[in-house]
Amino acid sequence: MNNIVVIGIGLIGGSMVKDLKKAHPDTKIIGVDKNVDHLNQALVSGLIDEKSDLNAVKTTDLVILSIPVDASVSLLPEILDLVSEDTLVIDVGSTKLDACQKVEHHVNRRNYLACHPIAGTEFSGPQAAIYDLFKNKTNIICEVEKTAFKLQERALQVFSDLGMRIRYMNPESHDKHIAYVSHLSHISSFMLGKTVIDKERNERDIFDMAGSGFASTVRLAKSSPNMWTPIFKQNKTNVIETLDEYINNLNQFKILLERDDFEAIFDEMKNTNRIKDILKGIA
Ligand code: NAP
Repeated sequence: MNNIVVIGIGLIGGSMVKDLKKAHPDTKIIGVDKNVDHLNQALVSGLIDEKSDLNAVKTTDLVILSIPVDASVSLLPEILDLVSEDTLVIDVGSTKLDACQKVEHHVNRRNYLACHPIAGTEFSGPQAAIYDLFKNKTNIICEVEKTAFKLQERALQVFSDLGMRIRYMNPESHDKHIAYVSHLSHISSFMLGKTVIDKERNERDIFDMAGSGFASTVRLAKSSPNMWTPIFKQNKTNVIETLDEYINNLNQFKILLERDDFEAIFDEMKNTNRIKDILKGIA
């Protein structure tokens, strides 16, 4: 690849080009971002070789679209309008149905591959970009058959350079399942953080008493609202369904406590310990 255009030089786009530059030192990385400070930071730190604007997609081998999902869905058709026949466009958005539907009938649909790398941290921006973020992680690819075969091959090489495993899924299933394992976890973490902050006026006390269990459970509450609000908006129906089930489980737990039914509480936790086996293999 002669050059790669990364639109949104933050945690995900930045981490991708860090590893791709390592694998292909001669490939030029061109950054496009609405945040001028982020673009400048990325240039100074060597994350990108050059700053540019959307026109850069006209002459590139690969476009990585890594901006919030609402912006991504509205920009995707414009990018596909501009690219040449030989350009691969991937997005990394955490929801997939809206993006796939938006470009369903686009004349250049075959240039686009819908992806979701299941990897990340709670940090944002170019300074959050790290090497090996995607190593041994899963990349969900949706509607692969709608992408030109030679561009699928290029994408698989890119994901192999990043060290990723591939799973194929339709966008409806992706959005339904991801609501449980990612979107609900973030809501749960945000609301746990809120509950403690609301109750504990003296933040020093929280800090002194909080153990590593609390810290790991509320870690996701540090995530960016800019990124998460559009995800909840796009996946609202699935997220509401998961929330109903979660709230029901919380209420059930409360009822068992009120009834002093500690045997049932023990059983609930014992059954849920199965999560240890289910999570084996996740770093
Ligand atoms: P990020 O660190 O905040 O980076 C996004 C960058 O894009 C920021 O510099 C942002 O600027 C810029 N931007 C926002 N709107 C733009 C637009 N319309 N045009 C050009 N640039 C724009 O975000 P991220 O965590 O990398 O997330 C990027 C995408 O990856 C999202 O779609 C997210 O769903 C997906 N994803 C995230 C994770 C994760 O753990 N974070 C994991 C998997 C997938 P401002 O900061 O000024 O808004």
